[in-house]
Amino acid sequence: MRTPWLSIVIPFYNEEDNVRPLHNQLVEALSDLGRSYEVVAVNDGSTDRTLAALEAIVKEDCRWKVVVLRRNFGQTAALTAGFDHATGDVIVTLDGDLQNDPADIPTLLELIDEYDLVSGWRAERKDPFLSRRLPSLLANWLISTTTGVKLHDYGCTLKAYRRVVIENLRLYGELHRFIPAIASWMGIAITEVKTHHRPRRFGRSKYSIVRTVRVLLDLIAVKFLLQFSTSPIQIFGGLGLTVGAGGGALLLYLASLKLLLGQQIGGRPLLLLAILLVILGVQLVGMGLLGEMVARVYHETQRKPIYMVQRIILGVEPEGSLGELDP
Ligand code: UDP
Ligand code: MG
Repeated sequence: MRTPWLSIVIPFYNEEDNVRPLHNQLVEALSDLGRSYEVVAVNDGSTDRTLAALEAIVKEDCRWKVVVLRRNFGQTAALTAGFDHATGDVIVTLDGDLQNDPADIPTLLELIDEYDLVSGWRAERKDPFLSRRLPSLLANWLISTTTGVKLHDYGCTLKAYRRVVIENLRLYGELHRFIPAIASWMGIAITEVKTHHRPRRFGRSKYSIVRTVRVLLDLIAVKFLLQFSTSPIQIFGGLGLTVGAGGGALLLYLASLKLLLGQQIGGRPLLLLAILLVILGVQLVGMGLLGEMVARVYHETQRKPIYMVQRIILGVEPEGSLGELDP
């Protein structure tokens, strides 16, 4: 099979009622595309009839292929699995729950010649305010101020990427929403376009308010990894030297009081503070050095895979080729 121009990557976790309508909407939205495309559906360990629904689609539409993960690995890992099995020059990601509108895909694609990453912006988001939109407002504001990539909506899965962008990403944890920030490191051109958003009709959202806390922690990690992962000594060492120097200055001051003026300094709280600062400074520098070593190990050794594929189901082409592949 010739490689398609476009790959559409969709993670599915318990979306049995959404598979069929999504397939229909995609066919409709892409009918005027005039270029070849494939759909890489990732079944992220669904426990309902999602896999059966996907299998049925693959039987009818050979542009679809299904990557079946061995268990539920989470949305980020599912997306990564999809990326790894996508062969197109351009990759579009989409939620499997019909909340993104496939009709927006051509709008994104119009800009992909000009930009490396085109991000959807759910200008009118149809999610509950307190549990989803408020945390997301906060997260968006935090991400854009700390990472320096200015987008309105990082959480929108509907995005289009040039191949080069995803080939150089390594995602894990909950990192998919930081793709623009991580990719900005590559020096790529990013833009966003307003897209439609629809309320969820079938199935339930897999996330709750708990995720906001995880996003916050990830944010700290991303900021740190982007800026300091190659040289932890710079951040810890800098802090340590500052604190240590403060403590040292205080000790000098106290020593001169004692030696030159003969004052008693044993009972002064300032002495405790000075000693504390010096110890803290030494420890911070030590932590920076440890961090350096960890970072080297981290960058030089192979890490464990973030997902495991059970099997891949390919559509049967009209000419008649293969059915299932072992990974
Ligand atoms: N998803 C997944 N694995 C998970 C959780 C979610 O593949 O562990 C998929 C889910 O099926 C959907 C997308 O990721 O296609 C977004 O999930 P959801 O709609 O629950 O998130 P929300 O829209 O509420 O942010
Ligand atoms: Mg959703």
